[in-house]
Amino acid sequence: MRFLTADYIYPLYTDPIEKGVIQVSSEGEVLSVLKNRKEMPKEKLEVYKGILCPGFVNAHCHLELSHLKAPVEVGKGFLNFLSVVKKRNSFNQDEILSAIDLAEQQMLKNGIVGVGDICNSGDTISQKKRGNLQYYNFIEVFGVREESANQIMNRAKELQCKFKNSGLQSTITPHAPYSVSEKLMQEIKKIFDKKNQVLTIHMQESDLENQLFENKKGPFLTWLQGINASSLIWTRRNKSIDFIKELKGAKLLFVHNTFAKKEDVSSNYYYCTCPKSNLHIENQLPDYDNFDVEKLCVGTDSLASNNSLSILEELQIIKQNSCFDLNTLLKIASKNGAEALGFEQLGTFEKGKNPGVNLISDFSKIEVIV
Ligand SMILES: [Zn+2]
Repeated sequence: MRFLTADYIYPLYTDPIEKGVIQVSSEGEVLSVLKNRKEMPKEKLEVYKGILCPGFVNAHCHLELSHLKAPVEVGKGFLNFLSVVKKRNSFNQDEILSAIDLAEQQMLKNGIVGVGDICNSGDTISQKKRGNLQYYNFIEVFGVREESANQIMNRAKELQCKFKNSGLQSTITPHAPYSVSEKLMQEIKKIFDKKNQVLTIHMQESDLENQLFENKKGPFLTWLQGINASSLIWTRRNKSIDFIKELKGAKLLFVHNTFAKKEDVSSNYYYCTCPKSNLHIENQLPDYDNFDVEKLCVGTDSLASNNSLSILEELQIIKQNSCFDLNTLLKIASKNGAEALGFEQLGTFEKGKNPGVNLISDFSKIEVIV
């Protein structure tokens, strides 16, 4: 049993508490939150300088891309970034697996306890089986031609079986509104379980996406026509968010939203921002005033577009570009992501949870306490 106290504790389900105390079991379960450290005999307390908050939830990552180091050039745009990801298979399996292991260690060290992770392969399965972190695995599908929908779904289901046979949950999810045909979206909807699942989708990461749907022109249109995409993608969807009708009733987590306008955003859904990745690829950030702060989450994206997997570093960028106070920033980092991904044990210091405890000093240094 431990009694942890600091200048402030941020339970996140309630207001910050000056010199409060969190009582945790040896397994890390929160047993109680006390308002005043004076209620406790001094010798029982572990006293820290700084603030204590729950472990972070990285709401968007691609752990399997950890071997693709982000290129030095910044702001080259999304289509250029795709060419980096295409190199993913020109590495041997040992390089891929050791990069995954190092990336996970980095997340642990940076106080991350849960991850929403995009999977196109089974490369991360052996790492995830170790149970170091809690993962929500999204098996991502994309396919722009109607006729290939069944084949793509069959492949995704095979991958889902691999996860299942290793005791890991996974959900089949669409990549982006421009990269998934209507037929493929229907197939995803068919197997979606409303009760306990969330879908995630890359959304308005590039302004070219808005150009495609709203003006039916631009480099995305040229690119899609060049790969024989079904024109229904851009003729029947007149905005990025129009695909939502095709997935009616689904709990959704939109990722990036860099070019989302206020009218595109709804309090019915969760939104994840990946600021460092956005700056790297597009040199642009979302307008943080557009979002409901109870529904905003944060992710690192992958090491293919980021030089670290640190939620604290992402928060520093959000802080510089918004008016959010510290409590709001920490909710974005922990509580909201846990809610979006259904991580019931994580996100706040509520009694009975096992959320991990991070110590932050000066908003620049992080240490994992529990
Ligand atoms: Zn992504």
